[in-house]
Amino acid sequence: MRWVRFQVGGNIKYGIEEDGEITPVTGSPFGDYQVETEKFSTDQVTLLAPCEPSKILCVGLNYRDHAAEMKLDLPEQPVIFMKPSTAVIGPGADIVYPGISKRVDYEAELAVVVGREARDVPEVEAGRYILGYTCGNDVTARDLQPADGQWTISKSFDTFCPLGPVIETDCKADSLEIRLLLNGEEKQHSNTGQMVFSPQYLVSYLSRVMTLHPGDVILTGTPSGVGPVAPGDRVVVEIEEIGRLVNVVARHSATGK
Ligand code: MG
Repeated sequence: MRWVRFQVGGNIKYGIEEDGEITPVTGSPFGDYQVETEKFSTDQVTLLAPCEPSKILCVGLNYRDHAAEMKLDLPEQPVIFMKPSTAVIGPGADIVYPGISKRVDYEAELAVVVGREARDVPEVEAGRYILGYTCGNDVTARDLQPADGQWTISKSFDTFCPLGPVIETDCKADSLEIRLLLNGEEKQHSNTGQMVFSPQYLVSYLSRVMTLHPGDVILTGTPSGVGPVAPGDRVVVEIEEIGRLVNVVARHSATGK
């Protein structure tokens, strides 16, 4: 099943997408829902980020090829940081290049969407707490990372967490092709089979620290090939069986950030 969140005529709803057609629901994938009778084509609506996370948890180094590229040892436990919910944007929305940064990078990532409240979940049961998977981009103001001493500032600007377009509930995340295209040119290409820590491990590990709410997102780390974007660039995160998350980089306005 492919869940979307969308706006039409001033209303925001969840819906089920199939072959370019959206069936809206009353309710949400995180609780009870009823299918409505009206249908829309995807070009009649504005797709939004497919969930509204209370928090976005991110893994710092989780692909074997990326660790090799950076000449870093594989971590024995996940390195975790967070992005704020205010960073989330949907497919088609602009990534705003901050005025105070001179180096902003893309990072294509598989995003895990938590389906129900998770606390102290054993790894073997973690799959039941995952609603599905979507595409994510862990946009990073790379030049602000060293001065900050940790990652909050560089990762947290408004618009720095594109998510979407759909939550695919039926795919297995252990062997999906993942790509990043910058203005049509392939910059990252790997497979989620390169991950050090699986989505199930991450749900279990994190749920022992903090309660995961329905709609919370775990960004599972980026493969090799990270690099810079510039205003005007078209950035596509493409993951097999899920789809393509497309965003354009916009220059910040004089009055904005
Ligand atoms: Mg990342």
